[in-house]
Amino acid sequence: MAQRLQLDSVTAGYGRIEVLRNLSFSVPEGSVCALLGPNGAGKTTTLSTISGLLEARRGRILLDGRSINRLTTYERASRGIILIPEGRGVFPGLSVHDNLDIAAHAARGVNDDWRREQLAKVLEMFPRLHEREDQRAGTLSGGEQQMLALSRAFLAKPKVLLLDEISMGLAPQVVAQLFDGVRRLRDEGVTILLVEQYLTYALDLADVCYVMAKGRIVFAGEPEELRGSSSLAGYATA
Ligand code: ATP
Repeated sequence: MAQRLQLDSVTAGYGRIEVLRNLSFSVPEGSVCALLGPNGAGKTTTLSTISGLLEARRGRILLDGRSINRLTTYERASRGIILIPEGRGVFPGLSVHDNLDIAAHAARGVNDDWRREQLAKVLEMFPRLHEREDQRAGTLSGGEQQMLALSRAFLAKPKVLLLDEISMGLAPQVVAQLFDGVRRLRDEGVTILLVEQYLTYALDLADVCYVMAKGRIVFAGEPEELRGSSSLAGYATA
């Protein structure tokens, strides 16, 4: 299977601190990859480096086999690398409808038919958004805001979605619905790299798992290999 995204010996950090040290891993096209690991392992830093918010000091980041190191965050986003940061990305003062409409108009090279089709798809994926189209996004529940953030990301026509702990602070039932949405995005052909603390859901959904510790990969394999393995020691399992 072709690799959608590859990190090849990437080093990155803040000031004098190196957080990622020769980090290498791949995200196959069309897969869901889970990036797991204890607090402070460098998971968010990895997503920041892929999206261009943080510079890779050494090593290469490849999208479809081509280096994107020199591209700005904006250029990476317009090539389809979309990050949903911890804490979501919605316009709280705008309605659900307007949030979706803006996202659909940000997608490049698409026409109104495509926009209508994709909008209908996300509203079918997340019926709760459908019921609340006129509600201001800031008054949605945390889970509903994440559904909106996922929908907005989907409308931006992503190649790779980077998800940073979308389940943070949410009830298990809501997390299950969100992960169902993530599965459907994968079924639509989106490649997904997700950082997650909710292991049960992450392992159920992921095709490939990576465990990070101290800025390096300490386990790479299928979720089944990871269940019960010592790499999981030290996690709060959900
Ligand atoms: P968590 O699960 O707690 O979010 P993480 O695996 O996502 O952890 P990072 O947020 O990538 O870890 O942080 C890795 C290390 O980098 C930590 O030691 C953190 O203190 C440090 N760090 C993160 N952001 C900054 C920053 N802006 N400036 C300095 N150090 C930072």
